[in-house]
Amino acid sequence: MMSVIKTGVKYVYRFDEGNAGMVDLLGGKGANLAEMKSLGLPVPNGFIISTEACRAYMKEGLGLLDQLWPKVVEHMHYLEHVSGKTFGGEENPLLVSVRSGAPISMPGMMDTILNLGLNDRTVLALAENSRDPRFAHDCYRRFIQMFANVVLGIDLDHFEKVLSEHKKQLNIKFDHQIPEENLAKIISHFKEIVKSESGEPFPQDPWAQLKMAIEAVFRSWNNKRAVTYRKIANIPDDLGTAVTVMEMVFGNLGSDCGTGVLFSRNPSTGDKELFGEFLINAQGEDVVAGIRTPQPIGALKEVSPHIYEELKIVAEKLERHFKDMQDIEFTVERGKLYILQTRNGKRTAKAAVRIASDMVKEGIVDARTAVTRVTPKEIEQLLHRQVDPSADLSSIAEGIAASPGAATGKVVFDVDEAEERGKSGEPVILVRPETTPEDIHGLSRAAGLLTSRGGQTSHAALVARSLGIPCVVGCEAVNIDLIGERFTVGEFTVKKDDVITIDGTSGKVYPGEAPLIEPSMHEEYLHHFLDMADMFARLQVWANCDTPEEARQARKLGAKGVGLCRTEHMFRESDRLSIMQQVIVAEKVEDRMDALEKLARLQKDDFVEIFEVMQGLPVIVRLLDPPLNEFLPKGKDVAKKLAQLWSEGRGESPEAQRLEILLKRIEGLQEGNPMLGFRGCRIGVLYPEIYEAQAKAIAQAACELIKRGVDVKVKIMVPLVATGQEMCMLRANIEKAVAEIAESYGENWRCKIGTMIELPRAAIVADEIAEYADFFSFGTNDLTQTTLGVSRDDAEGKFLAAYVRLGIYTEDPFRTLDRKGVGALMKMAVEKGRSAKKDLELGICGEHGGDPSSIAFCDRIGLDYVSCSAMRIPVARLSAAHSSLGLLN
Ligand code: PEP
Ligand code: MG
Repeated sequence: MMSVIKTGVKYVYRFDEGNAGMVDLLGGKGANLAEMKSLGLPVPNGFIISTEACRAYMKEGLGLLDQLWPKVVEHMHYLEHVSGKTFGGEENPLLVSVRSGAPISMPGMMDTILNLGLNDRTVLALAENSRDPRFAHDCYRRFIQMFANVVLGIDLDHFEKVLSEHKKQLNIKFDHQIPEENLAKIISHFKEIVKSESGEPFPQDPWAQLKMAIEAVFRSWNNKRAVTYRKIANIPDDLGTAVTVMEMVFGNLGSDCGTGVLFSRNPSTGDKELFGEFLINAQGEDVVAGIRTPQPIGALKEVSPHIYEELKIVAEKLERHFKDMQDIEFTVERGKLYILQTRNGKRTAKAAVRIASDMVKEGIVDARTAVTRVTPKEIEQLLHRQVDPSADLSSIAEGIAASPGAATGKVVFDVDEAEERGKSGEPVILVRPETTPEDIHGLSRAAGLLTSRGGQTSHAALVARSLGIPCVVGCEAVNIDLIGERFTVGEFTVKKDDVITIDGTSGKVYPGEAPLIEPSMHEEYLHHFLDMADMFARLQVWANCDTPEEARQARKLGAKGVGLCRTEHMFRESDRLSIMQQVIVAEKVEDRMDALEKLARLQKDDFVEIFEVMQGLPVIVRLLDPPLNEFLPKGKDVAKKLAQLWSEGRGESPEAQRLEILLKRIEGLQEGNPMLGFRGCRIGVLYPEIYEAQAKAIAQAACELIKRGVDVKVKIMVPLVATGQEMCMLRANIEKAVAEIAESYGENWRCKIGTMIELPRAAIVADEIAEYADFFSFGTNDLTQTTLGVSRDDAEGKFLAAYVRLGIYTEDPFRTLDRKGVGALMKMAVEKGRSAKKDLELGICGEHGGDPSSIAFCDRIGLDYVSCSAMRIPVARLSAAHSSLGLLN
């Protein structure tokens, strides 16, 4: 037979021949054991068969093992030599464990065999040497059981049945209570099972046991659970596992023995304290099996102070060496401590931030390393209330996760009722087909919002995000009966006042009160961590804010500016809405000017507050961009009022005449496709007085503050521009209005004027537009809608989810930028814009500005900043840093 062993390749390594850098070859477990050995830590002796051998085995099968065998035997002799024991020896037998260990951790997915080397004779020697025959026989029966299952594939149930029968007979509950006499009987019974199930007697030759065990560990790389785990965790299938063969140490030889698991810091809070548990007189598997209740590690201080102290030193040494929090397995045999494994410990998001922050302060890692230790997703978890992932829950429906966080409350369908009850402190979930600006009073008081229509960038989603309210939109399975105040999902009915829970992070809706986990971040650690992240980020993070409150919050969370202040959102309050309606309804300019003046006064006060909060930082105010009909009352409500007046004989009254005009105007403004209709700068072009009044209000606010010595960095942005001509006209008007106000204050103040790029045409003629714009901000909500030709309000709940499921789009394009389409247009606009104006400032203010993958793309095409809703700022700051560090693509 041809040799499958590559000449000159080393397949087997002693612990003292490896190190932590050899993870790919020796697996995580093996490499770390080798490293610990070189640190002089108390690790049992052993050797590792490399992943390369496993890969060769997968190609060649058993032939590989035959050829490898002399090397394994040689290393076993080395183990015999250093331990002074003999493998299969009848006086002082060497027993080993055979463990799997992949380059990437796959906890519990592959196999391990303990106590290997025991047979009918060596068990007697072990009994004699340990002076504990019960212990020896218990090890043997465990070994047969484990070997039969892992190596021979015999179902564990056969063995469990025998054990249960014995326990029943003896009237005892636990395995460790089984007396020695019964263990002997159980062992012979176990051997019979092996014979009848496998057709062969239980192998008595330890060398045969070893060979079979090594092969079984190799094979376990491809067992079903390991293959599934790799698929989920995105681990390549061709890495292979290493096999670690290590001298057994026993934690079950008496009361001066024990075993345990230890974290060098608290993995749920990140506190700097030893955290873990131990069992006296037990083998490692007992801790995991949950048969006996382990004691918290702190209790070891009393039970064995010197072991506790030693563990503390080891944990600290390992942390400093591996530069991360460690998850350590240990065993104490007759008062001597052995470390059996160490690896970087898994931790909650909260602990991850605290540990990263503390380890920099303690000088264990540098800031760059610390920043890589927390993912943007973890930051998101930290900031919002969550549905407890360990709870066994079934949802009744799933919509689009539009604003993160979870909320429980009584269902309310009426917006006014939501306002009233919310105001009095009652948590309510507002359920509506969709929302409009008129609903803001109720929406802002709700604990959560659920809509059956709409997508990521619908009104409900935008407002909920800006207010920080959990929100699920586009939940089409929910059939809402507003009159009957109930909704149904299939057979399930939810009435007004029934309690539901919505999860705006997953999009799920649950009946009743689901268990929630409160966010519990220690702000000091988060701020320190994010400040470190900023050191590596090229992109700045700005915020989308419409109110002074939001601006305050954004600044607190580290925003370096306001990238989008949507002025139409400032008309949400009902007193302003009616003035806004007067502006729209007015047919004559004089009438409109009256209402506009009132509106501008109110807006100016808001601007003053926002600019003051953001002093020293840029604030981009966007001029009005609503589909105008959105701001008008609903036609049918007006018609109803009018009919009422007629029925009361007041059909000719001035009020009725006003309603008539209003009704006509509503009809006149109706559009089949409002998103592509009379909105954005088209309003400014046809009703120049509206943008003029807004520009003046902005300039007044700025000049007032300048007079008070406040550092104002305001810019004005024009929405929905498609041509250079639009921008040219509007810029001239805005400049004129600003100059007029500045002069009236005796100031020389001027501001930058830029535009959104949110239509494909704008991207295509970006060079032309750039001649009249000082900056561009990508409005990727509209740019996605218009590039893909899909409605931002409807598509996600309807066909887009199916498109994602079918792989036509890899992600929801309203959440994560469609790089090939929308992204290509952005890139073109960047290039063309900068070719016309070298110092053109570039940013993004569509919802993608808070999405990690989209942020990485914006970084790559050279934008200067991303702007997102306040609550996403921490996620965006870390994403910007991870993008610079090459961790996000
Ligand atoms: C956009 O279109 O991306 C944008 C930010 O504007 P709006 O969502 O207000 O249309
Ligand atoms: Mg837009």
